[in-house]
Amino acid sequence: MKAYRGKSVLHGIAIGKLYVIEKKESSWTKTTIADADREIARFQRAREEAQTELDELYQEALEQVGEENAMIFDVHKMMLEDLDYIEGVENRIRTEMVNAEYAVTVTGEEFSAVFSSMDDEYMKARAADVIDISGRVVKILEGREDAELHTKEAVIVLADDLSPSETIQMDKSKILAIVTKHGSANSHTAILARSLNIPSLVNTEIDITKDYHGKGAVVDGVEGVLYIEPDAQTLSVKEKEQAKIQENAEKLRLLIGKENRTKDGRTINLYANMGNVEDVDKVLLNDAGGIGLFRSEFLYLGREDFPTEEEQFTAYKEVVSRMEGKKVIIRTLDIGADKKADYFGLDAEENPALGYRAIRICLTRPEIFKTQLRAIYRASAFGTVAIMFPMIISVEEIRKIKGIVEEVRTELQKEDISYGDVELGIMIETPAAALLSDELAKEVSFFSIGTNDLTQYTLAIDRQNQKLEPFYDSHHPAVLKLIEMTIQNGHKEGIWVGICGELAADDTLTETFLDMGLDELSVSPVYILQLREKIRSL
Ligand code: PEP
Ligand code: MG
Repeated sequence: MKAYRGKSVLHGIAIGKLYVIEKKESSWTKTTIADADREIARFQRAREEAQTELDELYQEALEQVGEENAMIFDVHKMMLEDLDYIEGVENRIRTEMVNAEYAVTVTGEEFSAVFSSMDDEYMKARAADVIDISGRVVKILEGREDAELHTKEAVIVLADDLSPSETIQMDKSKILAIVTKHGSANSHTAILARSLNIPSLVNTEIDITKDYHGKGAVVDGVEGVLYIEPDAQTLSVKEKEQAKIQENAEKLRLLIGKENRTKDGRTINLYANMGNVEDVDKVLLNDAGGIGLFRSEFLYLGREDFPTEEEQFTAYKEVVSRMEGKKVIIRTLDIGADKKADYFGLDAEENPALGYRAIRICLTRPEIFKTQLRAIYRASAFGTVAIMFPMIISVEEIRKIKGIVEEVRTELQKEDISYGDVELGIMIETPAAALLSDELAKEVSFFSIGTNDLTQYTLAIDRQNQKLEPFYDSHHPAVLKLIEMTIQNGHKEGIWVGICGELAADDTLTETFLDMGLDELSVSPVYILQLREKIRSL
């Protein structure tokens, strides 16, 4: 038996077989070759393998998300058959005597530049696709693997690191737990694992090799330990602990339908955070009073192109309808930093967390923003919808947003499309927003405090950096002061204030938050009943 310490993301226990995902970093360099025919043959083999992969992806997507969404893999396959593209790569290999990795990358970039310069929006969008197909061929040339799960039984995923878009693409019914060598507990991958109720460890002291693949293991999210090939005694202890956790969860279910009321009569709204349409099952199962944070950007991750208005509308409508009149707060696109999608064509940045992200993208690329707003407003006809905007730093931004919202509403009216009464709110997740909360409160109907980013920006600590985790302290007096100030300023203007960052689930602060007068806590579904129990004990 071997035991490795890690940082727990969720207090659960998983027992099963390990599935190792080895993602090698791309490491090719431009080299001169001696035999052009051999290099061209290498390129052709990789191209054919890429086509087989795309066939498989098409079939999987067809079954899971329907023909319209699956089409993109067919388009990619056709691009790989394009004679100009193939000749471009082969000529470069022959005339410059360079390796296939270089020839494919440079040819892809050239084609992409041509697509980008076209007037037609459809052709413009193909710029990202040609980079994508070239990346796929290079990946095969280098012998790298995707972070994909090919397994029939549910497994414990073991990987160096996983990005939110890789996690989102995995079949969640096949995951018992996730263990990574890198990653921080405040990253979006960790948040995703928490919202899926998957016990997980990050920052685990283990060197991952393929030898672990298929071995039996226990992930102990309570102690923060991964046991590989546990001995009989450890296994039996952990099985008992796992049963106890399940028993406790059963007991908590007795609180379903009960109020979130303290002994002295204070009530508070307990809402759920979610990112995928399927998460609504857990939201309903755990009796959340509403959805306090729908991280809509997850709809944009793990795909090849922007979700259309229709696709987004279908997703929002399903969530809103299933919530049957309970409030659904949809946060507009918060892409950027660790949440990336190639087709946005975002430049690499020195400081992505301080970079071109969230509302900054929406306000400068209004066509993306408007498509999303139209979809949300259309869905609002089917229940109770509120919208909140991320990363706000000024009153001017809100005025601009309101202008765009008004344009969308006018368009919908002209088209005779109905929509509901939609509350507009903002996230308070920058020190600027907290400090200006007195003025911002005059502009919106609610505040939702994003303590994950508020901590990061107040303390100047990158939430992604695992080395800084000992310093990342959401209990820091400066953070708590900004929270209290925001609540007071919100209440002065008569608007409600909630917290949707991970701190909301920290029950050592529940009483403090109630004392501050907080109106709502929005947490991963798995924490709802635990918090209800806590509130009822106060
Ligand atoms: C936050 O920053 O606290 C928040 C809720 O948003 P996210 O974690 O998605 O950045
Ligand atoms: Mg945030």
